[in-house]
Amino acid sequence: MSEVMEMPLSEVAEWLHRCARCGNCKTVYGIFKPSCPSGEEFKLEAFYPSGRIWIARGIYTGKVRPSRQLIKSIYTCTTCASCTVQCVLDLHEHIVDIIEALREELVRMGVGPTDPQARLAKYIKMERNPYLEPHSKRMELLRRLNVYEKRKADIVYFVGCTAAYIRKEVAEATVRILKECGVEFSTLKEDEWCCGSPLLRIGQVDLAKEIADHNAAAIEESGAIRVLTSCAGCYKTLKKDYPKMGRTVSAEVIHVTDLLAELIAEDRLKFSREIKATVTYHDPCHLGRHMGLYESPRQILEAIPGLKLVEMERNMENAWCCGAGGGVKSTWGGFALNVAKRRIEEAERTGANFIVTSCPFCKTNLNDAYEKFGGLRTVDVVELVLKAI
Ligand code: SF4
Ligand code: SF4
Repeated sequence: MSEVMEMPLSEVAEWLHRCARCGNCKTVYGIFKPSCPSGEEFKLEAFYPSGRIWIARGIYTGKVRPSRQLIKSIYTCTTCASCTVQCVLDLHEHIVDIIEALREELVRMGVGPTDPQARLAKYIKMERNPYLEPHSKRMELLRRLNVYEKRKADIVYFVGCTAAYIRKEVAEATVRILKECGVEFSTLKEDEWCCGSPLLRIGQVDLAKEIADHNAAAIEESGAIRVLTSCAGCYKTLKKDYPKMGRTVSAEVIHVTDLLAELIAEDRLKFSREIKATVTYHDPCHLGRHMGLYESPRQILEAIPGLKLVEMERNMENAWCCGAGGGVKSTWGGFALNVAKRRIEEAERTGANFIVTSCPFCKTNLNDAYEKFGGLRTVDVVELVLKAI
């Protein structure tokens, strides 16, 4: 008995028996459009939330042993949380927790995840980021923009791995806007490490805890009262997962879209240029469904002169995932792009000229799909704001 209680799945054990296998989580309530990206791609019960809960129950009770196919079904969940919105029973808010606990369980059993997902932990240990980029170059852009050396400020900007190495234009637009608005900020310099989100999503919890200890201490040391993020993953991890792991973040965690909406309301962020375009907004799963942040990005877009915002059929809490999250893109790149393709097609049906999002990782996957399949390009909210001021 005591052995069972030590399993990561024991934390969600009471929910493992609650799924009625009614299938409501497979479609968006009211419009009956697909809800689960992995179920829709692989068309097997094991790739839908209900199948994964069934597998979790089997692993917990010792009746199921992990196989290669089973590991694939568990690790192709993008952790988009759409199922948590569509499920009608009281287990709904625990579905992603069950899937993440199941991944942690597989890590403990020494069978999951497989490469290249498994390599993410190695890369983060070596270079403090999942892209295996040199840690010494993490702050290169901020050094060039002359914002690296500022010692103390009320806001510390947590750039995040994707904005620091891959989508540098997002970090650049963010710091240029802050400078334009006269907002003082600092950085953690070399003490900024990956937030740990990719590790938490794939079940590598022990390393994520070590990283959380380091980042939380660095934030406290900075003396800031707010920690600003560009990325939906960093935002959710610092604000929700760190406290859940018992790590206190001494500063208020704020996403850049909330800060910009605040600056607009205070009349500190003013637009002087029109952008004549129709755009549609893609809600990042880890910003929207996981954190409830839907309004600020829309308020910003509506404040930009000339810009018209139109909504996709599946938006806000019903938004279709970009396909990249949950550690999926690193291993099942083709699947991630197919999910993004469907999102782009949905965006095209609105008549928009391009897609806007507020997560550099969503932007990357949607534009990778654009390069492969065509359709619409995606930009980040901060890039549009910079163009309009
Ligand atoms: S997870 Fe919820 S909606 Fe999905 S089959 Fe189970 S009870 Fe039904
Ligand atoms: S989190 Fe998303 S991908 Fe995972 S089971 Fe739920 S709906 Fe499917």
